[in-house]
Amino acid sequence: MRLMSDTRTRITAGGLAIGLVAGLALTAGSAWVSTAQAEEPAKLSPTKARARDVYYPNTEDLAADEMRVIACGTGMPTTRMKQAAACFLVELGNGDKFLFDAGTGSSERIAALQIPYNWLDKIFIGHLHSDHFGAVPEYWIGGALMGRNQQLRVWGPSGRIPELGTKAAMDAMTKMYLWDITGRVGNVDPRGYKLEVNEFDYKGENQVVYNENGVTIRSFPAVHAIDGAVSYSLEWNGLKFVFGSDTFPNKWFDKFARNADLAVHECFIAAPDIVKKLGFTPESALLVGTQIHTAPEAFGKVMSGVKPRMAVAYHFFKDFDTTAQVYNRIRKTYDGPLSLAEDFMVWNVTKKEIRERMAVVEESTWSPPTTRPNIAPGKDDRATFAKNKGLPAEAIGYSDFIAGGKMNMDDVLRPIYEEASKAVGKELKYPEKGK
Ligand SMILES: [Zn+2]
Ligand SMILES: [Zn+2]
Repeated sequence: MRLMSDTRTRITAGGLAIGLVAGLALTAGSAWVSTAQAEEPAKLSPTKARARDVYYPNTEDLAADEMRVIACGTGMPTTRMKQAAACFLVELGNGDKFLFDAGTGSSERIAALQIPYNWLDKIFIGHLHSDHFGAVPEYWIGGALMGRNQQLRVWGPSGRIPELGTKAAMDAMTKMYLWDITGRVGNVDPRGYKLEVNEFDYKGENQVVYNENGVTIRSFPAVHAIDGAVSYSLEWNGLKFVFGSDTFPNKWFDKFARNADLAVHECFIAAPDIVKKLGFTPESALLVGTQIHTAPEAFGKVMSGVKPRMAVAYHFFKDFDTTAQVYNRIRKTYDGPLSLAEDFMVWNVTKKEIRERMAVVEESTWSPPTTRPNIAPGKDDRATFAKNKGLPAEAIGYSDFIAGGKMNMDDVLRPIYEEASKAVGKELKYPEKGK
């Protein structure tokens, strides 16, 4: 088990003020209530489990009126182990789950939560920068291998021209991974490799892009790099989650993020650190850090207008020597409730309370349970696939040349089939030579 961070490391990482101020803003007054229960001294240590101030995935019920949000990526396109790029998971008390952005590196964070993949089949992409959708291919293919045996559903904006839209990106992705998918056909359950793409107009202003099971997701334009970036709001059961993806402060977020319980908005590295730590020139640090992205001071100004129950800042490298800069600059323009996000930060949101904690996750992840049985690959899978893709049938499988390079392993592999057949009580046929 790996403790990504806890309250103490947050305090040393972000300065004492962060822990205290966030705590105070969160539950006014409760920061002064000790969590250590006054107990009669016992002779031996108590054997009952005690409540802990961390979230262990799959150990807590979600109430019917509760929302849980988990940061599965809070970093940047410049990759690092500590923070994957943008990804936020929203879980609702009705059982629904949604991913907002799937930036590079985030799929292993999602995997660490051990949630069955059939329940994680919906991704909403804010814009097509790699740090916001770069994990879609690995999530698409890796997710299918991890037990998602139904199609992956993706939502994302159009572009000014069709080539710059989500549909074009997903089409290109399936083309790019043609060898990958072709090599899997006939070997595994094929259903998880299906992709449903829902592209919508990036200019829609608070347009409904999803409306199922009492959950309404809307999109509105964002101002970032070129046309075709959007932000989202999710409303359910009187709770509202807003995800900005990337954007310069804009009028749509200011208008449509109001009344948010949790408002996630990018907050970039403070400009001096972009120069010092990322090696940018001052000119380009100012452009990227204040014009393309949202500077901490600007993030604060946005949140002072929106006034969410909790403002969540992400998209900066959160280190011991950079966090204070971000925090102090936000506090020049905003004094409300604030979370400085990092990977595996968790928010439990009810009408009564917003609780912020860190998750403790298992690094050695295997497939979580499937929600419906896998099917064995069919005999005709390859032929059907080849026909649908317009590929010559002989392109799938081995040529005689490559098949002829196989060493004879019959004597060591045949017994594995016999062992398995005996164990499951039916004959599992050893493949014919060369297949
Ligand atoms: Zn971006
Ligand atoms: Zn970004």
